[in-house]
Amino acid sequence: MKVLVINAGSSSLKYQLYDMTDESVLAKGLVERIGMDSSILNHKPTGKEEVTEVSEILEHTTAIRKVLEKLVDPEYGVLKSVEEIQAVGHRVVHGGEAFKSSALVTGEVKSEIRRLFDLAPLHNPPAIMGITAAEKNMPGVPQVVAFDTAFHQTMEEKVYLYPIPKVLYKKHHVRRYGAHGTSHDYVSKAAAEYLDRPIEDLKIITCHIGNGASLTAVKNGKSYDTSMGLTPLEGLMMGTRSGDLDPAVVTFVMNKEELSISEVNSMLNKHSGLLAISGSSSDMRDVTDGLAEGEPNATLAFEMYEYRLRKYIGSYAAAMDGVDVIVFTAGVGENSVVVREKVCENLTYLGVKIDPELNKVRSGDPRRISTPDSKVEVLVVPTNEELMIARDTHRIVLESK
Ligand code: ADP
Repeated sequence: MKVLVINAGSSSLKYQLYDMTDESVLAKGLVERIGMDSSILNHKPTGKEEVTEVSEILEHTTAIRKVLEKLVDPEYGVLKSVEEIQAVGHRVVHGGEAFKSSALVTGEVKSEIRRLFDLAPLHNPPAIMGITAAEKNMPGVPQVVAFDTAFHQTMEEKVYLYPIPKVLYKKHHVRRYGAHGTSHDYVSKAAAEYLDRPIEDLKIITCHIGNGASLTAVKNGKSYDTSMGLTPLEGLMMGTRSGDLDPAVVTFVMNKEELSISEVNSMLNKHSGLLAISGSSSDMRDVTDGLAEGEPNATLAFEMYEYRLRKYIGSYAAAMDGVDVIVFTAGVGENSVVVREKVCENLTYLGVKIDPELNKVRSGDPRRISTPDSKVEVLVVPTNEELMIARDTHRIVLESK
């Protein structure tokens, strides 16, 4: 089965076409600046040169039509006909409490995603645009939705509730939902497979650290706790997001600086984290360069980031009463030798020992960086959310037949 995976943003659309017989990627690409002047389509057929096309793409339906044209193009295409695509999988950020796993798209499913606009006003509306656009371009082809929150729906009430008046949960669904679930699910399964151990026997801490960052305590293959909450602001210090802080800071600063709700939201989401403390960059590469040069602001930003990450690992080891495996993934987790080194250097009480040489190895495959006598396996597992969505789509479409 050939499955097209779509990740639609408000002005962008990423895609990957999979052949599920061997899970190979036939082509992938990105449409940017949808709805603006001169939209850009980058299309990369596997084994061929990347092509870039600039044109006017006013909305997602045209974006998908252009993508399909590229997929069957005599020169850049990988398909003879669009009919070869037998299913489409969509990434959706928020599935609320309604979706505990990926689902086949129906009218009711779309209505439920719309009801969740309130909880993810920036992310769920473009997902609906992507689904509608795919339906228009490929009528009759089954569509599946995979939610960033679904994996975390196994969290217990004591973990997902905030200790605030319960009426807010009843009236407005205020609770912890988490995010990056597809990635935490994928890397925890890939780690168990790499170690050749049943996931049901493992306590795994998955560290998805990229621009956005979250940790998950995966116990017996299920999300037990995760660091993001109602929104992706809770938890770790991130590129531009603050992560955890005293909630009273918000009202205090709003009062002192006379900030509106949207201004304080923007401060905490876009002008905090590494960017705020380093004073120059939200990118961990710049921060670690500054650290190597002894630049004081970058050094402080790095130390705060590492300290907060390490505290979360400790708290998840406590939450699960132990940890067998720590997994690093996403942009920082997969690439930053120094973040992994500094975090693990200070986890001796858990019996964590990493091999400095293995830690430096670069590879696109899962790999171990801990020593044979380390009490905890420490792995680097490249994440692959698109493959996870393609697998779910494939399985759900086969089951529905
Ligand atoms: P997103 O959350 O946007 O999906 P990614 O998972 O792609 O982000 O992570 C992007 C981040 O990864 C960059 O902002 C950068 O901080 C970090 N990163 C990428 N390569 C390196 C590297 N070699 N060393 C340190 N950090 C890196």
